[in-house]
Amino acid sequence: MNKINLKGYTLTQMEEFLKQLGEPAYRAKQIFKWIYKGQTQFENMTDLPKKLIKKLENSAYISMVNIYKKYESDIDETVKYIFLLEDRNMVESVKMKYSFGITACISSQVGCPMGCVFCASTEGGIVRNLSWGEMTDEVLAIENDSNEKVSRVVVMGSGEPLLNYEELIQFLKVMNSPLAFNISLRRLTVSTCGIVPGIIRLSEEGMPITLAVSLHAPNDDIRNSLMPINKQYPILQLLDACKYYIIKTKRRITFEYVLISNINDTEQCAQELSNLLEDLLCHVNLIPLNPVEGKNLNRSDPVRVRRFEKILLDEGISTTVRREMGGDIKAACGQLRRSLLMG
Ligand code: SAH
Repeated sequence: MNKINLKGYTLTQMEEFLKQLGEPAYRAKQIFKWIYKGQTQFENMTDLPKKLIKKLENSAYISMVNIYKKYESDIDETVKYIFLLEDRNMVESVKMKYSFGITACISSQVGCPMGCVFCASTEGGIVRNLSWGEMTDEVLAIENDSNEKVSRVVVMGSGEPLLNYEELIQFLKVMNSPLAFNISLRRLTVSTCGIVPGIIRLSEEGMPITLAVSLHAPNDDIRNSLMPINKQYPILQLLDACKYYIIKTKRRITFEYVLISNINDTEQCAQELSNLLEDLLCHVNLIPLNPVEGKNLNRSDPVRVRRFEKILLDEGISTTVRREMGGDIKAACGQLRRSLLMG
């Protein structure tokens, strides 16, 4: 008999499974809690009777990703992990340390289909979606390895989370569940390149997480040249979806804006951007471009970054410059890529 993987079972599915084993439903809750504490061995689940442990060992297992490689930054305490999945694909995740705790930046797909010209994750295209169990494993593996609790999760690694919608929602539910990670919704962030139907669906989910939208340009001409998705969902459509999200969730949206020298970092761009975002409940996060090999794009110099920031601030738009973390280990935004097994 093939053993089933209990990671990736919702609580309801787990209850159903226990019923089939002739066990009471409350056992499901106990097992569920153990799994998301990082336990992979039934014999270590100390509140289960021996007989049940035997039954579980015969019929089920709990998967866990393996750390294939780990890079630790010398400039900050950022750690980049390359995880090996059960099917031998690999994904990257990043652990960042802030004064308020640990943030895990996790991937939602192996590879990425979006084709943004400044990003390493999309080279080689998309391989497959991650399951919610695999996304959860990224967080668990970071906690297990570092012996620290993750207090914030950002789905900002490789992949476009809103193209993996059902798994994303289930993942967020487990992150938020008091039986599992118990992370509040506002400490969960999803970053999207602007999949309009996904944003609308998320608005109606009754799950007011923090939404980050990769805008990167103040008009369609520039955005078309940087992000192919803009041809499908141009800026005004995207902003309409964002307004809907704000109305439904009452949450402020974060707009990410990568600053690329002489492409989207001029005074005129800043002015245009502030006109575009006027009256919107939002925050702008400026990200000086992180270098990606083989791309002929340069990061804006610090003077231009400050000038851009000042124009937005003067127009009354809440703006910050994102602190780069893990640049020396290629763990910064846009630097995560798909690794391949050698041999
Ligand atoms: N697909 C999602 C999430 C992954 S990217 C999205 O597009 O939002 C996470 C963030 O890093 C996005 O804002 C992305 O545009 C940004 N990014 C990509 N490449 C970058 C680079 N070279 N330098 C800085 N930020 C980059």
